[in-house]
Amino acid sequence: MADKIRVGWFTFTCCEDSTIIFTELLNSYYRDWMKKIDFVHAKILRKDSYSELQPMDLAFVEGAITSDTQEVKLKKIREKSKKLVAIGACAVIGSPSNQRNFFNPKQHEQIQSILEKFKYKDKVLKLSDIVVVDENVPGCPMDEVGFLNILNKYINSQLVYPEP
Ligand code: SF4
Repeated sequence: MADKIRVGWFTFTCCEDSTIIFTELLNSYYRDWMKKIDFVHAKILRKDSYSELQPMDLAFVEGAITSDTQEVKLKKIREKSKKLVAIGACAVIGSPSNQRNFFNPKQHEQIQSILEKFKYKDKVLKLSDIVVVDENVPGCPMDEVGFLNILNKYINSQLVYPEP
């Protein structure tokens, strides 16, 4: 039997509803996925035993990027992943987590102290503003059929599995 593909699931600034969809899908796919997938990073599934980011075939990333710390982490995830998939509208286009990008000057002034206190960026960014994104799963929350299609595509892909 070939090796399992190594998958990570990561969440940045958002409401995490796509994570809920993902865990709901386990009701139907758990047995099959456990034979084919090693979830090396997925805080929703397991206490993370790795102190360092592990190499991954596929990284699913949910949420928008709102701080320099998040930007650094996203770049590390990109470095460690053969393919990176943006999950949900916040990751794909930045909205709706980027509402403050459209504030008028007075509104922006009112939140300035919060931005400074928590070291937030001036603007909220979508993933592709920072790293190369290989695939997008749009929707708010994500379109689950689109997610399954991409997951299955890479489970069956010679590009990713097995390692050439
Ligand atoms: S895309 Fe929608 S469901 Fe997903 S994190 Fe953003 S607001 Fe939540």
